[in-house]
This record gives sequence, C-alpha cells and structure tokens, in this order.
Amino acid sequence: MADETSLRQSLETVQQRIGAAARFAGRSPDDITLIAVSKTHSAERILPALQCGQRHFGENRVQEAQAKWPPLRAQYPDVCLHLIGQLQSNKAADAVALFDVIHSVDRPSLAQALARAIREAPKPPILLVQVNTGEEEQKGGVMPSELSQFMALCRETLDLPIAGLMCIPPEADDPAPHFAFLRQKARDFGLGLLSMGMSSDFETAIKLGATHVRVGSAIFGER
Ligand SMILES: *Cc1c(COP(=O)(O)O)cnc(C)c1O
Repeated sequence: MADETSLRQSLETVQQRIGAAARFAGRSPDDITLIAVSKTHSAERILPALQCGQRHFGENRVQEAQAKWPPLRAQYPDVCLHLIGQLQSNKAADAVALFDVIHSVDRPSLAQALARAIREAPKPPILLVQVNTGEEEQKGGVMPSELSQFMALCRETLDLPIAGLMCIPPEADDPAPHFAFLRQKARDFGLGLLSMGMSSDFETAIKLGATHVRVGSAIFGER
C-alpha cells in the first residue's frame, strides 16, 4: 500500500510539473503526452499507475514487453504502448504487433524490416525517427548528417509514414541545444511529433516543443 501511495504521488507530481512547464511556455498541457517508462518494473508495480489512469507506457525491450503487457492490456485495453529502445530488425514484426508507437527507427535495414512487417499488420504503429544528436558512437539514432537521406528512404522509397523525431542527449551535455536542434529538424521535415525529455530534463524539453516526454525514475523510482 505504501508503495501504491507513493507511486500515485510521484505520478501526480510529474503531471503537475508538466502542466506548469506547458503553461509557462504558453502551451496547453493537453498537447503533451506523458509516457511512463516502465522498463525493468514488474506488472505489480505498473498496475497502480494504470489504476491512477495513466495509459501511455514506454518499454525498451520487445521481449520484456511481450512477457509483461498482454495480461495488463486485457484489463486495460486502451493502453498505448511505446517502444523507446533500440530495435533489432529481426524483432520488427513482433514490435509492430505489440507496440502502438515506435520511437527508435534509425537505420535502413530496420526501416526495411518495418515496412515489410507493416504491410502485413492490421494496425500500423506510429513511427518516429531517432536522431543521434550528440553523435555518440555507442548510441542508436541516425547521425544528423544522414537524416535527410534517411527520411527520403523512409518516405519515398519505403512509403513509411514517419510522424516525428526522438532524441536522447548525451548525459554530460546541456540538453537544451539538442532539443532545439531536434525541433528545428522536425520543422524542416514537416513532422508533428517530438519525443524528448526524461526525468531530469522534461521541463526543458517542454519549453522547446516536446509533444511526448518519457519519464521513468521520477515516477517509478530508481531502477
Ligand atoms: C529509460 C529511458 C527513459 C526514462 O529515463 P528516466 O531518466 O528514468 O526518466 C527515457 N527514454 C529512454 C529512451 C529510456 O531508455
């Protein structure tokens, strides 16, 4: 019970901070979707968030989500599941079957696998291209210099409906320039969705135009 109360409180606090940041930026809080990042947390830990009315959840592994979510979804059919982690091409069909939104489209082989999977899917997911704004070797995401070419491949060659962009700034950097860069790229490509901002920086992301913030530890505690 103590656990449940603290989860409810931290969820409410995050929602209030989102509302305040939105109003401060002259935006409507309704234009910002809170994705509760439930990766590594058990179904028992997720259930109280569902009971509080939270419906958008983020996971970073297909297999973990496949194990956890079908029973929860049977109880809460209006859940919207977001894949925010790197996706292997051989899991593309599984990801398309399970997730409503995929934030990590980031290379030609994956885009091709997704295009194939989507052709056979009853309900195609919303797709976002991840951009490696910090140009970090170990991180997923399209390099900024390759973004134009990648967008053309997705849109023109593969007919993949890309709806937005996502980024994860380097931990040591001020995130603001990364968010501003991503917003500019979204404008350049006429994309409406901007997935940016985590527990430590979602207010900055909202100021810079985020439509989706991905918040884990501020809601569920440390992993
Ligand atoms: C884990 C994760 C988050 C949430 O991070 P917190 O710092 O716990 O809020 C957001 N986005 C991605 C891509 C993640 O992997």
